[in-house]
Amino acid sequence: MIVVAEEKPKLIDSKGKRLDGRKANELRPIKLEANVLKRADGSAYLEWGNNRVMAAVYGPRECHPRHLQDPARALVRCRYNMASFSVGERKRPGPDRRSTEISKVISEAFTSVVFVEQFPRASIDVFIEILQADAGTRCAGLTAATVALADAGIPMRDLVASCAFGKIGGSVVLDLGKEEDNYGEADVPMAIIPRTEEVVLLQMDGHLTVKEFEKGFKMGVDACKQIYEMQKEALKSRYAVDAEEMEEEPIQEEA
Ligand code: ADP
Repeated sequence: MIVVAEEKPKLIDSKGKRLDGRKANELRPIKLEANVLKRADGSAYLEWGNNRVMAAVYGPRECHPRHLQDPARALVRCRYNMASFSVGERKRPGPDRRSTEISKVISEAFTSVVFVEQFPRASIDVFIEILQADAGTRCAGLTAATVALADAGIPMRDLVASCAFGKIGGSVVLDLGKEEDNYGEADVPMAIIPRTEEVVLLQMDGHLTVKEFEKGFKMGVDACKQIYEMQKEALKSRYAVDAEEMEEEPIQEEA
């Protein structure tokens, strides 16, 4: 069998334009909607570039199995799952090392913002379903799930906003797409609490110098703040409709 070595595409041109025409510090298009599932306590749907993500939240509810209950606080659990049809080649269904890791880092990020002490022995269950994957799905999942948590009315210190930065063709860039992730030099997903800029998730795949990291991190913080505005907008537009409807309802006169 003849094996043809895959040619690495030129990820960024001399003018700083990327494969999809974006500038180094530009995000892919994002569309976010809150409260899209009837059964869940809270939910959100997110389109981020070619990523499609559904997030659902249940709880706070009694934690099962009981031996996992914490008498002092709620347990924030997360299940990140990539559908078999979400990628080009069918993905083997079910959990694997990657999804277990992503579920863990996302549940840790949420544990730091949810007021867990208010719900002893309870669990707050976050489900993230990746329907279509195109790099940056953990950031997309976190971004959608935060809105789902707020939609469920879970008390939190703030929302969590997430985005990745990295390095492609020698340049530090924001929000890597699939080819950039495959052929680039580094990918650094991060998540912050926008109000305080506390970091609640930070991972790094590849290599960056300290200077490159600092440049990318700043880009990431700015991007998270843009995403934060979109998250708030998604929640406002969902609940503004309810408020309008309530105002329009005729007031029943007492007999
Ligand atoms: P993230 O999606 O958070 O960037 P990774 O860097 O691990 O996480 O994955 C990058 C991309 O690689 C994913 O978004 C997805 O498009 C693709 N990918 C991940 N796992 C698989 C898999 N098992 N099969 C095919 N593609 C995958």
